[in-house]
Amino acid sequence: MKEIKKYWQSYINGQWVDAQGGNRIEIENPATGQIIAEVSRAQKEDVDQAVAAARACYESRVLYNMRPTNRGALMFEIARHMTEMADEIALAECLDNGKTLTGGKNEAMAAARYFTYYGGLADKLEGRMIPLGADYVDYTIPSPFGVSAQIVPWNFPLQIAARSVACALATANTVVLKSPELSPVSTYFIAEACHRAGVPKGAVNILCGYGHDCGAALVAHPDIDHIVFTGSVATGQSILRTAADRVIPCVMELGGKSAGILFKDADIDQAINSTASGIFSHAGQVCSAQSRLIVPSALQAEVVEKLAAKAKSLSIGPGIDGHDMTPVISAAQADKIEGMCLAASQAGAEAAAGGRKHGDLPGHFIEPTVFANVTPEMTIAREEVFGPVLSVLTYNEPEEAIALANGTDYGLCAGVYTKDLATAHWAADRLIAGQVFVNEWFAGGIETPFGGTKRSGYGREKGQEALLNYVQTKNVGIRITGGGGGRPGG
Ligand code: NAD
Repeated sequence: MKEIKKYWQSYINGQWVDAQGGNRIEIENPATGQIIAEVSRAQKEDVDQAVAAARACYESRVLYNMRPTNRGALMFEIARHMTEMADEIALAECLDNGKTLTGGKNEAMAAARYFTYYGGLADKLEGRMIPLGADYVDYTIPSPFGVSAQIVPWNFPLQIAARSVACALATANTVVLKSPELSPVSTYFIAEACHRAGVPKGAVNILCGYGHDCGAALVAHPDIDHIVFTGSVATGQSILRTAADRVIPCVMELGGKSAGILFKDADIDQAINSTASGIFSHAGQVCSAQSRLIVPSALQAEVVEKLAAKAKSLSIGPGIDGHDMTPVISAAQADKIEGMCLAASQAGAEAAAGGRKHGDLPGHFIEPTVFANVTPEMTIAREEVFGPVLSVLTYNEPEEAIALANGTDYGLCAGVYTKDLATAHWAADRLIAGQVFVNEWFAGGIETPFGGTKRSGYGREKGQEALLNYVQTKNVGIRITGGGGGRPGG
C-alpha cells in the first residue's frame, strides 16, 4: 500500500513549523474516504508570522537587487527539484486529490514548467524609454507590488500555486500562499523545492487553513500588497470587498460554464472525443471544463447517443488503479452534484447517461453524465456544477448558438467545432470568453494567457501576459539640464 508522509507543517520564513495554536486539519483520500494525513492548521497568528516574513524579505530587496537572469536561474533550480520529486508529488496528488498517478505526474511536470517558463522571462520584462526632447530622460520601471497573498482551490492546487508563485518570484514579489484545506499536500512540494534551491528565507511562505479564518485573515492583513485568488465567484466577491477597503489590486480567476458549439460541418467524432475530455477529465472538477455542448437540432439525437456511449465506456474507480473517472473531492461535493442532476431531471432534462453517484464504493464517485434536451433557463445550463456533467443544448441558426454560448453570467472559455476557418474566426470573434478553443478543448498551455470575462474574473494567468499582473509601472521623468537642448552649461 503506497503512503505519503503522515504530517505536514507550514513553511514560514524558510522553516517548517507547527501552527501556533497546535491545531491540525485531517486530509481524506477521496477515493476511499480514509484519513491519510494531517496538516498544520494555520490561523490568524500564523498568517501574521508568514506576512511578517514575506514583508521583511521584500524590504531587504534581496530578490529585487538580484540580477534578473540570476533570479531566473534560481527558478530553474526550483523546477529541477520539483522534477526530482515528481513521483512523490504524483502519489500525493493521487491520494489527497483523487487523480491518477499519470495525472499527478503531469501536475508535477507542469508545476516545474511554470518555474522554467517564468524563470526564462525574469530577465525579459523591460521598461521603456519615452522621448521628451533633449532636456529630459524618461523611462519606466516594471516594479513589484510587494507581498503577494495567494489563495488556491483544491482541484489543481499544485499547478495553480506554481503558476502564481512563479510569476511573483520572476517579478521580485514575495509570497504568502494559502493552500486549500481539502487537498493541500502537493503545494508543500513547492516549499520544499524552494528550500532546496536556496530561495531567500521569507520569499515564499506556504500554509494551509480554512478559508473563513486563515484565508480571510490573509486577504485582510494590513501588510499585504497584492492578491491572487483562484476559486469560486462567491469567495472572490467576498475577497474583493475586503480588498476594496485598502484598494489592493487583485487577480481573480473564478468559475466557468463554458460551452462548445458544434457546427454542421464539424468532424462529429473528433468533437465528441474532445467534449468527453473537456467534461470528464478530473471528474469535471476543472474551471475551464466544457460543461455545455450546443448542437444543431437535427444532430442532437446522433451526438447524444455517441456521447452517452462514450460516457458509459469510462471505467470508474480510484485514480491509483488508473481508472478513467476518478472521485470528486468530498462527500459534500458529490451530494451537491447529485442534487443538481436530480433537479435537472425534474426540470425536464433527459439523462442519457449517468446522473447519480456511482455504486457502493466508499469514495466519492459520480457517474459520467450527459443531459439532453437542456434548455437555457434550467439551472443545469446556467450554474457551474464542477463535476462530470455535460448539458446538451440545441440551436437552429448560428447566431442562436452564439447567443446560447454567451448567455450565462460566466465567460471563462468557449469552443468551436468546425472544419471551416471562416466559421471558426467568425465564432471566435463573437464568443465572450477569455480563451476560445477550436477543434480541441483545452488547446493551449502554460505559454497561452488564461483568464475570465464577466463573473469568471479578470486578470490573466499563464503566458507572458500574466507577468503584467505582478508589476506596476513606475515612470521616472528626469530633467537633465537647465534648458538649451541638453548643451553643457545650457
Ligand atoms: P472556494 O472559493 O470555495 O475556495 C477557494 C479557496 O478560497 C480555498 O483555499 C478556500 O479555503 C479559500 N477561501 C474560502 N473562503 C475564503 C474567504 N472568505 N477568504 C479567503 N479565502 C477563502 O473554491 P473551491 O471550491 O476550492 O474551488 C472551486 C472553484 O474554483 C470553482 O468555481 C472553479 O471554477 C474555480 N477555479 C477557477 C480556476 C481559474 O483559473 N479560473 C481554476 C480552478 C478553480
